[in-house]
Amino acid sequence: MVNIRRKGLMLVLSSPSGAGKTSISRKLLELDDQIKMSVSATTRKMRTGEVDGKDYYFTEKEKFQDMVNKGEFLECALVFGNYYGTPEKPVYEAIDNGKDVLFDIDWQGTISLQKKCGRKVVSIFILPPSMAELEKRLRARAQDEESVIKERMSKASDEISHWLVYDYILVNENIDQTVERVKHILEAERHKRFRLKGMEGFVGGLLG
Ligand code: 5GP
Repeated sequence: MVNIRRKGLMLVLSSPSGAGKTSISRKLLELDDQIKMSVSATTRKMRTGEVDGKDYYFTEKEKFQDMVNKGEFLECALVFGNYYGTPEKPVYEAIDNGKDVLFDIDWQGTISLQKKCGRKVVSIFILPPSMAELEKRLRARAQDEESVIKERMSKASDEISHWLVYDYILVNENIDQTVERVKHILEAERHKRFRLKGMEGFVGGLLG
């Protein structure tokens, strides 16, 4: 079997909260062992059901600031009044080993990654089919207080307004269909010429 090695890519999935991004990420990680999740640090409080070190590294503000000062984040941003940051080391370790990394970060983080990491970054924005559906999904989740839901709805329009930052736009009407589409994007992106390692040698061999 021909074994073509490649560099890993950085797959960013963003959406307003409630558009289905978390379920999509979960399914993708289950289906594909070539991709691993980037676990962010955050100063926000842990929600019911969340696990420290798996969903986030829940971090005190002082510790977070210390990590910023030490340059440990690939990017960090203030989102809904809390700080979030992507630890740099695990990302580079993974992509150097040919693994892809999945990021659930906002538009500010996406811009920072695009500036810092260029074409290593593949970005997808997930849209809800309508604002009414988005609100329904947020309420069904019932994890947040009423005031938080209101705030998130008002921020959703703002987040959606940054859709032009992204390479791909998907409207999430059906989770399985959206996951299929993400898989197709990933499959195509993995074959981009600049990600392939040792191709010159392989093609040289073909040409004799
Ligand atoms: P939540 O608190 O609901 O888990 O996430 C709130 C928002 O923060 C989401 O839009 C999520 O994508 C974003 N977010 C989570 N981790 C990071 C991160 O490390 N960096 C940035 N820039 N945004 C993040």
